[in-house]
Amino acid sequence: MKISSRECNGDDGEVDDSHSRSPSPDPTIETWQMETDAVTVIEKQDKLSAPIKNDIEQNSMVKLASKLNGAVVSLKKAPSKEKPNKDQLFMTALHTTNPFKTIATRKESSPSLPESLTSCLRSSLFPRVPPYLKFISHDETIPLKIPTAIQKHLKWKLTTITPIVVKKTLTNSGFRLVKSECDTAECPQEETVDWIGIWGKHMKSIMFRAIKDGQKMNHFPGTFQIGRKDRLWRNLQKLASKYGVAEFGIMPKTYVLPHDLKILKHDWEKYAANNERWIIKPPASARGTGIKVVSRWTQIPKKKPVVVQRYVSKPYLINGSKFDLRLYVLVTSVHPLRIYLYKDGLARFASVKYNDELSSLNDRYMHLTNYSINRLSKNYTPNEDFAACEGHKWTLQTLFQYLKTEQNVDINALWESIKDLVIKTIIAGEASISSLTKANITSRYNCYELFGIDVLLDEDLKPWLLEVNISPSLHSASPLDIHVKGPLVAAVLNAAQFHVPRAEQAGLPYDSRLYTVYLSKEERDKHIIYTNMEDRDLYLRDILSTLTPDDVRHLLQAEDELTQSGALQRVFPTRHSHKYLPYLAGPRYYNRLFDAWETRYADDREPGVELLRALCDMGYHLQTPGVPLKRAAAQQLDRCRMTWTRRRRPPRRGPPCPRSRRSGPLRSRSGPSLPQAPRAPAQTRCPARRLSRRPPRCSPAPSAAPAASPSPSPPSPSPSSSPSPPPPSPPRTDLNMNECDEKEHC
Ligand code: ADP
Repeated sequence: MKISSRECNGDDGEVDDSHSRSPSPDPTIETWQMETDAVTVIEKQDKLSAPIKNDIEQNSMVKLASKLNGAVVSLKKAPSKEKPNKDQLFMTALHTTNPFKTIATRKESSPSLPESLTSCLRSSLFPRVPPYLKFISHDETIPLKIPTAIQKHLKWKLTTITPIVVKKTLTNSGFRLVKSECDTAECPQEETVDWIGIWGKHMKSIMFRAIKDGQKMNHFPGTFQIGRKDRLWRNLQKLASKYGVAEFGIMPKTYVLPHDLKILKHDWEKYAANNERWIIKPPASARGTGIKVVSRWTQIPKKKPVVVQRYVSKPYLINGSKFDLRLYVLVTSVHPLRIYLYKDGLARFASVKYNDELSSLNDRYMHLTNYSINRLSKNYTPNEDFAACEGHKWTLQTLFQYLKTEQNVDINALWESIKDLVIKTIIAGEASISSLTKANITSRYNCYELFGIDVLLDEDLKPWLLEVNISPSLHSASPLDIHVKGPLVAAVLNAAQFHVPRAEQAGLPYDSRLYTVYLSKEERDKHIIYTNMEDRDLYLRDILSTLTPDDVRHLLQAEDELTQSGALQRVFPTRHSHKYLPYLAGPRYYNRLFDAWETRYADDREPGVELLRALCDMGYHLQTPGVPLKRAAAQQLDRCRMTWTRRRRPPRRGPPCPRSRRSGPLRSRSGPSLPQAPRAPAQTRCPARRLSRRPPRCSPAPSAAPAASPSPSPPSPSPSSSPSPPPPSPPRTDLNMNECDEKEHC
């Protein structure tokens, strides 16, 4: 095994095999010989009897067996004759770290769930992992029975865009929907928000720091990198220039104006003879707003920021009409990458039959397939029946059935090409999302995201990526919509894996250790080794041979999550998804860990699950390093700067606030008016204020200092932060980055 270990131990050299153990160089490590001991046991058995299969489970289970039934075995190693080099010593150190040294007792596994809780909680596959909350469907007539001790903690923070189907699912599942909660006796007007979930619009990355441990939000930082059409194109373009258009030419060629105007002009002339059509779109909009199909150069805006795209002029038609597909894609983790594709979705038809004559280019009902546009057409026919091939909206399942039976289409091949497109689309944003997540999130529990990906099939059934919606519409007015989106919401929330936040009963509540992002020294060292390894075969062979507590935490969560997949098909990682690993910005440790895990266990998961069970039973997965002091202090500071609730702000006029502890001029709602405290310039106000729309309340009015904190808060909210009226059209449809910023309702 070639290891670039210069960074690890400051020396060059090679270690042939991580299994080749030699005496530890470190006296503290000598005391903890768990891994080495286990190997010694095996070696002894090897000599004495028939060879033992040296696979991972066997290895690990032998190690565990020697632990489980009593004291740690501390066999002395035979002294090695040859003096090991530094790399060998390093590898030995890594593999001889005893994971159990801080575990006092090993037999106190969490109790199995009492009968009364099984209706509302789902047990983990693993001992000492708290159970997950069950989410039941929006249309369940009997809501879940939840003991009050648990239910009182189930609070969900409402936002103006929380879809009705999400609200129904939550209330059926025992949640209370809270706008804010005023429950401190000392200052009842203070907004204390104690929620565990929120379904809201996307936010600036820095705002994610306000998410507390134990809370979950339906977004990751940085997903606008695929949610905006211009960024999506740029990110895909980078990959296409590196790995070829054959692999990454999944989106029609796009030009981001005004920057790409010259290139567009050049290409325009090149294709002029073919009567090429182009489609102009705002870079960050939705619902077909501002979209035009054009064929003349004069129609191209030269200065406005728009994207111009080659028009797919030969789409696959059904009954003469063009349609697009809405796919739902759930990402539960970015590093490691875990992507699920919902098996159902929507096919949305244009309401006028298609032709590609130039004279028809203005007909939006022919060329655009958005529901928000076509529902206004006199030809539009709704489809109430999810199983019927009727009207202008079908379910994806019905479409596939139709394509298979009526058109003899190879549905499996089509689904494979759709999966490929989905994985590449998420990969296009992975680098940015991953680094922004790392910079702004300190618990792996905090984020998951549901994307709506729009795809157009051309006449050869090649799927073309049109756009990614980071807040896909979950509006479900028709039975067909609810048939698709209702189960989707429950599946997404179940796969996101919520824990009971606090509970009196031991073993039940959320345990932050399971989601820590911090690594011990040994874990960091292992990451360095396997990230630097060049050969896939080598990491496949070795990376699972010694699982760290952090590895176990990642693997167990993914295994638990997989039990919830059902209608959500996991498309990454799989047994075969390693072919996408080279497209990621760099080798990533966890993706390699999962590659090895899937390669070994995808076809038979039970031995892998058993191995993790045994480790969890000993509490191995709960071994976490402390939070580095500097990071902890920085987090605390961030929390102070950004809260989910707006600090009470002085009203413009009002009497002194009796609760204020300040001695300066005070304000409250009902007293005489006082001179107004100077307000901070918009740019310096904390964007967290945008998260709450409560009217101003009495608050200490700083006399000399400006009302806003002088702390270096991030740039001000965009103009969007001021309340804006709901858009005129009732249907809730997609929001992309800009719309999330600008619109309060959808
Ligand atoms: P929006 O976010 O406003 O919905 P889309 O990119 O999804 O914008 O485009 C709206 C509609 O326009 C699509 O549903 C599709 O019918 C049509 N469309 C978009 N891009 C193309 C293209 N390159 N070729 C053909 N039709 C397209």
